[in-house]
Amino acid sequence: MSGKVLDELEKIRKQALADIERASERDFDDIRVKYLGRKSRLTEILKTLKDIPSEIKPKVGKTANDVRKDIENSLNKRSSIITGNSMAAKIETGSEDITKPGRTARLGSKHVITQTIEEIVEIFVGLGYRMVETGEVETDYYNFTALNTPEDHPARTLQATFYLEERAGCGDERTLLRTQTSPAQIRVMENSKPPLYVIVPGKVYRPDVPDPTHSPMFHQVEGFAVDKEITFGDLKGTLEAFCEKMFGAGRKVRFRPHFFPFTEPSAEVDVSCIVCGGKGCRVCSHTGWLEILGAGIIDPNVFEVVGYDPEEVSGFAFGMAPDRIAMLKYGITDIRMFFENDVRFLEQFK
Ligand SMILES: [Zn+2]
Repeated sequence: MSGKVLDELEKIRKQALADIERASERDFDDIRVKYLGRKSRLTEILKTLKDIPSEIKPKVGKTANDVRKDIENSLNKRSSIITGNSMAAKIETGSEDITKPGRTARLGSKHVITQTIEEIVEIFVGLGYRMVETGEVETDYYNFTALNTPEDHPARTLQATFYLEERAGCGDERTLLRTQTSPAQIRVMENSKPPLYVIVPGKVYRPDVPDPTHSPMFHQVEGFAVDKEITFGDLKGTLEAFCEKMFGAGRKVRFRPHFFPFTEPSAEVDVSCIVCGGKGCRVCSHTGWLEILGAGIIDPNVFEVVGYDPEEVSGFAFGMAPDRIAMLKYGITDIRMFFENDVRFLEQFK
């Protein structure tokens, strides 16, 4: 019996090696199945080893495994020879140009909004500001009340808000997705003493219907300064310096009176059109100006909330939308394009 099995194994080995020797590339799979597959004779022998008398089991087992290894090795060897030959043949006939550059992997890059935010932050860091990031989930208190916008304040109706479902253990404080980066003012002031020069980039949320100028998620960069004797003149100088660095030398800046709950006086800030330089064009609606910022002198009520003495310190705050700035800078007419993640669009800004 043992002799028969050993003879059979030798026959399998001889037959397999002969088949492999003649094989072309497309035969490999068939050979593998025929000799090594689940239904092959070799596999069957290996599976029934346990029924073989114990005195010859080791010899049959070893031979069967050797045959298996031999077949695998010669399959691999033959395969690499054939592949090598076919590459050599292609090079020989010139159908494979080995001087051709290799296929390069596509490199990712920073999103155009990230680039714009970094550019803004870098300018303020250069002016001595420190960057701070705070959470996107805020409480009603930090997003509104502490910013001089109590429950019944009409300004609340100006900002539709995503409120979060109340969960047990969160206290009775209502939570929401921040509608502005301004809560960072309160959080920073609560935990540190002036002088403060802080810049806060981040995502904000408002339940607006998406259209070319609205997205339910967009970005803001907030900045504020608190120190002794800070005046509106300091705010103006700071924003002029920023605009010149961000949009190029010779930019003019103008302030128009406006209302924000946590600054008084407040202003909307325009920069001379970055496309036409102020002569008037389609982008600036032929006014020569682009609105890019909101700003103002921090309301004394805000200082009282955080325990600062409004007689001792004063400050200014400003906020801008990097999405809008990037749209103006690159002539993009639909804010939604930033967030659709179409690589063909995003690759333009590498
Ligand atoms: Zn213009």
